[in-house]
Amino acid sequence: ERIFNQEADLTEQSFEQSLRPQNLAQYIGQDKVKANLQVFIEAAKMREETLDHVLLYGPPGLGKTTLAVIIANEMGVNVRTTSGPAIERSGDLAAILSALEPGDVLFIDEIHRLPRTVEEVLYPAMEDFCLDIVIGKGPSARSVRIDLPPFTLVGATTRAGALSAPLRDRFGVLSRLEYYTEEHLKQIVVRTAEIMDTEMDGQAAGEIARRSRGTPRIANRLLRRVRDFAQVRGDGTITLELADYALELMQVDRLGLDHIDHKLLRSIIEKFRGGPVGLETIAATIGEEAHTIEDVYEPYLLQIGFLQRTPRGRMVTDHVYRHFNLEVPEK
Ligand code: ADP
Repeated sequence: ERIFNQEADLTEQSFEQSLRPQNLAQYIGQDKVKANLQVFIEAAKMREETLDHVLLYGPPGLGKTTLAVIIANEMGVNVRTTSGPAIERSGDLAAILSALEPGDVLFIDEIHRLPRTVEEVLYPAMEDFCLDIVIGKGPSARSVRIDLPPFTLVGATTRAGALSAPLRDRFGVLSRLEYYTEEHLKQIVVRTAEIMDTEMDGQAAGEIARRSRGTPRIANRLLRRVRDFAQVRGDGTITLELADYALELMQVDRLGLDHIDHKLLRSIIEKFRGGPVGLETIAATIGEEAHTIEDVYEPYLLQIGFLQRTPRGRMVTDHVYRHFNLEVPEK
């Protein structure tokens, strides 16, 4: 079971890799972020400098990793990729930093999960391109300064608020990625179908886009599953009817909400009379991690006005009752 899952993850990853746009022109949507980056990249190139450090934040699957690779491509440099939880000791970070070539992009995903001691090594590296290393222990310990090649740090996080203030302040560019519009998602779905060499009706592309929670990663995943249905149950062409049928079977509803969203919303209604109820309590009730709910499920439900955050906890709105064909309770 475990091996199977890992293999599934690997296929999923290589699938994602193959779909990654390689330059800003191929990157669909996020127009404000793109326009700003374009200027900063061009200016840095004109001055023959490295690009300022960039912090990308927003929910998972919106294209932060993709953008980090694009920034490196546009600057004509290499990208080294790592993540906050993967760097356990300051020595690990020192090794990564001293292996960089001048101008390289260092991408740190989930940067809010860097241990504090590691974060402190990052400050002088970001600010002055140097490492302060302590050699020895006790009274004979001394600090040595090592110069690093100039580099651009691209950090990604689901929540900018989860970052410590001193780290956040060291980024010159802060870009917030937004959920994609239906139109942009449709363009992404059409592009992916072309890359996969799959025939698809325009209406079917629209339907997949509508049910993708504003998220390219979800759009591409749904498309891949719908294509399976088209191959086995149809003649390979993705029609609207087939997309509807497949999405229904996958328990993705008209708004793109899946069974976990349903479980979350229904339990607030059925067990807590619509709320307010604390995040930890919801998490325990439905058996999901609180931070998964906070990072993955909640942002979209807030965005579409299905959930509200109050000082006393989360509440469902009247929209949820209507969505489930339930009577809206009297206030
Ligand atoms: P994140 O790092 O924010 O979790 P990724 O960069 O891994 O998201 O993107 C997830 C998937 O969505 C990738 O396969 C990528 O190809 C696709 N994708 C993301 N943003 C775009 C975009 N603007 N245009 C086209 N495809 C995109």
